[in-house]
Amino acid sequence: MILKTWQRALSVALFSMIIVTAVAAQNPYDKFRNREYSNQGYLSQEDELKLAAQVHQELLKETRLVQDRNLNSYINNIGQKLASQSERRDIPWKFHVVDDKAINAFATLGGYVYVHTGLIAATTNEAQLASVIGHEIGHIVGRHGLENVKKQQKFGTLAGIATVAGAILGGQTGAGIGQLAGGLLAGGYLMKHSRDAEREADFLGVHNLERAGYNTGGMVEMFEILNQLSQSNPNLFGSILASHPPASERAANTVREIEDQMRGSDARGTKQTTTFGRVKSSLPTTTQSTTTTPATPRKVRRRP
Ligand SMILES: [Zn+2]
Repeated sequence: MILKTWQRALSVALFSMIIVTAVAAQNPYDKFRNREYSNQGYLSQEDELKLAAQVHQELLKETRLVQDRNLNSYINNIGQKLASQSERRDIPWKFHVVDDKAINAFATLGGYVYVHTGLIAATTNEAQLASVIGHEIGHIVGRHGLENVKKQQKFGTLAGIATVAGAILGGQTGAGIGQLAGGLLAGGYLMKHSRDAEREADFLGVHNLERAGYNTGGMVEMFEILNQLSQSNPNLFGSILASHPPASERAANTVREIEDQMRGSDARGTKQTTTFGRVKSSLPTTTQSTTTTPATPRKVRRRP
């Protein structure tokens, strides 16, 4: 009896060790690794692009876009460089800068990506900024906005994919599609994602960053900045970034992925450019005066 108890204890201990080892060995991004991306089961790409354009029109009603040509072309250049190395190279990508001090960026669908001036102000180099844009591109590659619309349809809480597609294909007037697009925006359906969708966007983003020739350490630094700022200035965060997994977890996942799949990519590639400094110092004063400059990010710690 005593022996049996001892044996049971030993086997429980061994099992725990196996689990711990398995958990430690598991890269959280493995489940995304062989995924293939397409519009199958969602809207056709053509309809997605039409809806995205309509959503943009609705967004303009309540969002102030930056008109500064230098700032716009700088963000667009980074975005196009990344998009041309993404898994969706065949759609026209549009990158816009929103005049808003909240530290935020978001993507809707069909290639539309938005970056807040507050986010640009919080970064200290171009690779960090590019990592956020890469993450947003990842949401559009992963069809995360479309997936949310599909889910809402299942729960019957919103006119879903079929209705939207029907409206577009049925040649509804702009006002009709506008109403649908407005509903999608108001409900936040295009930008609020599951934590797993956020992880997938981080996964797609860090690989996109590397393919575009950026230093992947920029993404880890960005999470460290977000981590620091979320503690010191939580009111600077848009609700969207707050719904992501904790920045510390995102940093750890990224470090792990770099070590497992792209070793050395955090020691090469573009990190800083002179244009970054020039653009950052010309941000609208509303952003500059209200944003705290974050401390220099700590050096990336490696796993032993
Ligand atoms: Zn996200």
